[in-house]
Amino acid sequence: MLGFPGKKVDSIKRVLLRQQAQVEKNLKEVEEDDPVNDGSLAETSEPGTDSYIADTHTKTVILEKQLKDTKTSIIVALSKIKSGSYGKCEKCGKQIELGRLLAMPTASLCLSCSKKVSK
Ligand SMILES: [Zn+2]
Repeated sequence: MLGFPGKKVDSIKRVLLRQQAQVEKNLKEVEEDDPVNDGSLAETSEPGTDSYIADTHTKTVILEKQLKDTKTSIIVALSKIKSGSYGKCEKCGKQIELGRLLAMPTASLCLSCSKKVSK
């Protein structure tokens, strides 16, 4: 088990589950806020309205993508906890710093690898 402290994993798992619930909630709100999903607005074609809708829709799509990415990484992290591979760097295979995992439970890379990856 990579010497990962079980109690820490339990608290990280709780944090992840809470984050997952929050993301699900946010995703729902974002979808409801999207004017494109609103049937009444889709019918209007007044000048100036389209760009507003397109603008809001673009923002919604970006936000939605971010939320979905977060959701995916939470699911991945939870499945790793289940399989016992949680906390292992995907790049070098070393144990990810515990402080890093506590601050960012969805981290899949250790600090030095993530520094190399981020542009
Ligand atoms: Zn690494």
